Amino acid sequence: MEEKIIKDKLLENFLKYVSISSQSNEENKDIPSSKGQLVLAKKLAKELEELGANNIRINEYGVLQAVIEAKGVDEKKAPKIGWVCHLDTVDVGLSPDINPRIEKSYDGTDIVLDSSENIVLSPNEEKSLANYLGDDLIVTDGKSVLGADNKAAIANVITALWYIRENPSIKHGKIYLAFVPDEEIGLRGVRKIDFDNFDVDFAYTIDCCGLGELVYETFNAASGNLKIKGLSAHPMSSKNKLVNPIMIAHDFISMLDRSKMPEHTEGREGYIWITDIKSDVINCEVKFNIRDHDKKKFLNKKAYLMKITDLLSERYNKAKIEIEIEDTYANILDSVNEDNYLAIEKLKKAFEKLAIRPKIIPMRGGTDGSYLSTRNILTPNYFTGAHNFHSNKEFIPMDSFYKSFLVTLELMSI
Ligand SMILES: [Zn+2]
Repeated sequence: MEEKIIKDKLLENFLKYVSISSQSNEENKDIPSSKGQLVLAKKLAKELEELGANNIRINEYGVLQAVIEAKGVDEKKAPKIGWVCHLDTVDVGLSPDINPRIEKSYDGTDIVLDSSENIVLSPNEEKSLANYLGDDLIVTDGKSVLGADNKAAIANVITALWYIRENPSIKHGKIYLAFVPDEEIGLRGVRKIDFDNFDVDFAYTIDCCGLGELVYETFNAASGNLKIKGLSAHPMSSKNKLVNPIMIAHDFISMLDRSKMPEHTEGREGYIWITDIKSDVINCEVKFNIRDHDKKKFLNKKAYLMKITDLLSERYNKAKIEIEIEDTYANILDSVNEDNYLAIEKLKKAFEKLAIRPKIIPMRGGTDGSYLSTRNILTPNYFTGAHNFHSNKEFIPMDSFYKSFLVTLELMSI
């Protein structure tokens, strides 16, 4: 099939999915946190039906799952592969509605996204633009993100399924699909996959940026809350009575290593990040995140926080000090084993075959795969082709988008 026809289909699908506003809403504790995500899930369910998928189901959390049966191969011998895409776009204070436009054969100059607000995507600022001369770029109107994160992935997978259907000679194993809500607000949706019906050997997400990016190493992550209950007294007669929880919080924070905070770390350096403090004269809460690629260092960080909490409890024995730490996701790399290593191998081979140079990145964050790896489903992550996720300067070059599609097709077919 001609490249042009595939690109048109990719574009058509992408524009269709971004036209459905599906920003997630951190304030809403329901899953899905916004109606638009369910609208999109329903639309996709219908398309999957037309594409011949089986077991199509949207569960009570708005997770859409489906299966494509194996074709032309011994089902027992072919790996069962899953794809996980997220339905939400991120809320970074921009419009939930996305109105993209296409900058045809990019000429290397400034791209004016919004002339009234003077929002410009400039090659002076965005150096990667120089790589895309002559390519068609999908850009925003400056008022929202583009939503290639993660609708480029959805378009990618749906287009691959369409391609497989149009080309019956393609053999493939059993394909599992999960479209999950609320990835952007703490990987909430992926936890609600019906895992009894997601019987994969391994899975993939397509949820990072420029051409060639490949991620199978993410942070181990936990978040926590330190709760301090002090004692109040009128300051006229508070000597030896008043216990100020804010001063205890101050001690707690001052016992942290300033050189191991997000503003002083990069690459594989982990950190503890104080994210919130709320207090009155009696109750204080300090929220924090713990991140480290290295499992041992991650555990040490947790242990250290427990230790200083004990120490403070001793020092301020009239106060009540409690710490809660909860794991949120784990490093994908730690779920690699002999049986599932094929997931990474297949990906590297696909890149090689398509002459795409892999850029392997230890991600300073997590993907849906970081949660899946805690369930022993190895889930590497590869590029959509887009740049500037979570920004109104997000854009996707058609050529990279197409290459991302080719990787998916290569991974699916045998
Ligand atoms: Zn994403």
